[in-house]
Amino acid sequence: MSRFSVSGTAIVTGGSKGIGRSVAERFVDDGANVVICSRTEEEVKATAEEIGALGVACDVTDRDEVDALVETTVDEFGGVDVLVNNAGASFMSNFEGVTPNGWDRVIDINLGGTYNCTQAAGDHLKDGNGSVVNLSSLAGVQGAPYMSHYGAAKAGIINLTRTLAYEWASDGVRVNCVAPGYVATPGVQAQMGVSADDIDRADPERSVGEPEEIADIIRFLASPASSFVVGETVLARGVPDIAETPEV
Ligand code: NAP
Repeated sequence: MSRFSVSGTAIVTGGSKGIGRSVAERFVDDGANVVICSRTEEEVKATAEEIGALGVACDVTDRDEVDALVETTVDEFGGVDVLVNNAGASFMSNFEGVTPNGWDRVIDINLGGTYNCTQAAGDHLKDGNGSVVNLSSLAGVQGAPYMSHYGAAKAGIINLTRTLAYEWASDGVRVNCVAPGYVATPGVQAQMGVSADDIDRADPERSVGEPEEIADIIRFLASPASSFVVGETVLARGVPDIAETPEV
């Protein structure tokens, strides 16, 4: 088996579509046991059946549901070796327009969900020299207009990644993170009118990626090939935005 393959048992949150689905497909192709979750039961079960994974309805903000997700995974496959904290969501608003409820929801899903799933799976990950891959965003690295809540949550994930990587290294668990720029998932396609079909992977001059390009990075971070990568956040955003000439 290649060092770049993911083996054992993996949980991919938010695996019913977009980046999470691509990740789950990659892991299934590698021969791993894959459990995907999302809130919409019908959708997660349908995707799971299509790709050969186990689908579980679970809202990552609900700790009881997350505990049940981990329990189901362990009952079915005997452990958890890889956790991909991919479930995430946001909405656009200027800072003044973000209500307390909206703020809490976005922090809860992105940062709270990552906390819930990682803590719930922790003992099992430590049992088998596991690997955690978190999903941040370019918004969490450099900020993004009208995404203050989302950027703050995603910045928190980068920081959590590094601290947890330090704390869990002695338990044999690696924790890393991916921060994508725009990726043509169904949500982004609808919002921006960009179709994944128009993207040419061979073209480096782009600012929109395909879900599969992020899945390839996540697969690398989840596999033994990245054994010396610990606590890092990998950016993937196409051409970096450095063209502006500073005024002197
Ligand atoms: P997506 O297409 O919107 O899919 C999100 C997935 O997460 C769905 O399966 C959704 O299913 C699930 N989900 C949402 N809230 C959940 C919750 N509370 N509990 C469990 N599952 C939940 O997302 P994506 O674009 O692939 O993004 C995946 C990750 O990458 C996210 O963390 C996102 O922030 C990050 N990211 C995306 C981009 C991009 O341009 N697409 C850029 C940077 C970072 P249900 O709604 O049915 O629960």
